[in-house]
Formats: sequence, C-alpha cells, structure tokens
Amino acid sequence: MKVLVAAPLHEKAIEVLKEAGLEIVYEEYPDEERLVQLVGDVDAIIVRSKPKVTRKVIEAAPKLKVIGRAGVGLDNIDLDAAKERGIKVVNSPGASSRSVAELAIALTFNVARKIAFADRKMREGVWAKKQAMGIELEGKTIGIVGFGRIGYQVAKIANALGMKVLLYDPYPNEERAKEVGGRFADLETLLKESDVVTLHVPLIDATYHLINEERLKLMKPTAILINAARGAVVDTNALVKALQEGWIAGAGLDVYEEEPLPADHPLTKLDNVVLTPHIGASTVEAQMRAGVQVAEQIVEILKG
Ligand code: NAD
Repeated sequence: MKVLVAAPLHEKAIEVLKEAGLEIVYEEYPDEERLVQLVGDVDAIIVRSKPKVTRKVIEAAPKLKVIGRAGVGLDNIDLDAAKERGIKVVNSPGASSRSVAELAIALTFNVARKIAFADRKMREGVWAKKQAMGIELEGKTIGIVGFGRIGYQVAKIANALGMKVLLYDPYPNEERAKEVGGRFADLETLLKESDVVTLHVPLIDATYHLINEERLKLMKPTAILINAARGAVVDTNALVKALQEGWIAGAGLDVYEEEPLPADHPLTKLDNVVLTPHIGASTVEAQMRAGVQVAEQIVEILKG
C-alpha cells in the first residue's frame, strides 16, 4: 500500500508508516495538477494546511481510503467529495494544545514585563529602565475564555504560577476545573475581575467579535488581553481603540482578522502590544505529535 506525503512530516511519523510496511512517496506541496498525477495509485494522502485536496484530486485517486491532516483545520480538504466516496479524513486535534498554551503564557509574561518593548529600545540604543516597569503574575487573576484542550493547559500553568483561575465556558467541566484550582464565572464577571484575559474558543457564529467594544470596556484598565485562538474572536478596531485610549493596559496577539497582518496595521504602531505570526502550534513537539497521531490513524485504517 502506498501513502503520498504531500507536506513536510516529522521523521517519527515517517517511521510509523515505514514500520507498518507502507510505501511512501514524498513531494512537498504539489499543486493540483501535480497532485492529480501523483494520486493515481495511492491509498492515503497526508497534508498539513497545504496542499489543497480538491474534488478533482479525490476523483483522480480510485484507491484512496484515507486523507490525513497533520494538524487541526480541515478547510483545505473537500470533505463533501471525500464523504461521497467513503474516504475517511483524520486529523490531530490535541497535538498542539500544550504549545499554544505555552505561547499564551509567554505572551502574557512578555506584555506584563514589556520584554518586546524593552528589546526594541535596547536595539535603538535606549536604556528604557523607567518605561519598562512591569507587574508580577503571581497572585493575579487570569480569566480563561473557553476551557477546552488549550484552556485547560493554560489553567494548569497559571495555577502553577500562583494565579487565581477564572473560567468561562458554556459547557463547564467542573472536575477539570477543580484539578487546576479554577472557578467558573459568567463572562461579564470574568472580564471585570481578571488581570489577564486569554481566549481559547473556536471561531463560530457565537464567538465572532465576542470581545467587542462593550466587553473591552468591562475589563480593568490594568488588564492584559491575550488572543491565540482566532483573530475574528476579537473586534480588531475596538481593540486598537482600547489600546490607544487605555481601556486596557496591553495585549498579546498570535492571530489576526487578516493574516498575514498588514505591515502598516495600527497594531504595529502600538508599544503596549506584542505580536507573533500565528506560531501557536509551531514547536518541534507539536509538529511531531501531529505527524505521529495522523500516521498511526492511517496505519490503523489501512491495516487494521
Ligand atoms: P476545544 O474544542 O478543545 O475547546 C474549545 C472550548 O471552547 C470548548 O470547551 C467549548 O465548550 C468552548 N466554547 C465554545 N463556544 C464558546 C463560547 N461561546 N464561549 C466560551 N467558550 C466556548 O479547542 P482547543 O483545542 O482548546 O482550541 C481552541 C481554539 O484555539 C481552536 O478553535 C483554534 O481556533 C485555536 N488554535 C490556535 C492555534 C494557534 O496557532 N494560535 C493552534 C491551535 C488552535
């Protein structure tokens, strides 16, 4: 049986496929035309957020039984076309949870201690000791919006840092909350009481612009907002206003309504915001886990 690996995959994942006796064809990010040529005799395809597995590709693959996405989002795969043919689609939803959580905490420390700001000043030859006065996290309250896989990891770290943990989730898991010393609250209470508000909800209709002007105004003027979920969970224009006018103290962002963030975006002009280019899942460990989980599922489907 043959697997087309159409995106870079961790060597441990390749090992899983090889050990199961699968033949591997590797080509990095082939375009649709090339994919059509490659899939004629394959049993499985593995992709990441690229390349696109379109209906045309699926129709050109008569033996195809499974499509693996090393990662979470499935928007590059034509799920309807796969379903019509009974082709399974597998992914690795939990693989990057810890990495995203660690980034959210890293952004929190960065904003709290003005690290990126101080670093920029150092490079300009400015010793910005006075302007870089920060705050400690111990004893502060973190409000976690969305207590799923990532939210839980954030809560674990925050609890270990000695932070008070407030949680908001329409489906509260009390047992897990207890484990991390967390307490559920309604969103309004969480926003009013938290020193750090961090977002870990999916982007769905109910969470589009969940953090808007009205809710930003509920937050403390000393509070920090962290968004490593999806850009559109926050109304960016309202956030820019909040940061410019001091409704909140700062923000750490990994995701944006428009990606890549335009170079001249107002957010890039603000000193109280730390920006990263959607790197939540960009760690060696997350990529390895994503690859191995998908490889194992493919082996199970083809050989099980
Ligand atoms: P998850 O499904 O495990 O958890 C999401 C939680 O949000 C669930 O507990 C759900 O009940 C809750 N929720 C749903 N609607 C809500 C609402 N209206 N208000 C509050 N909570 C609500 O998902 P996860 O694995 O923890 O991932 C969360 C999000 O993080 C993903 O949807 C994705 O958008 C984002 N993400 C970002 C990166 C990155 O690189 N920055 C990487 C992976 C995931």
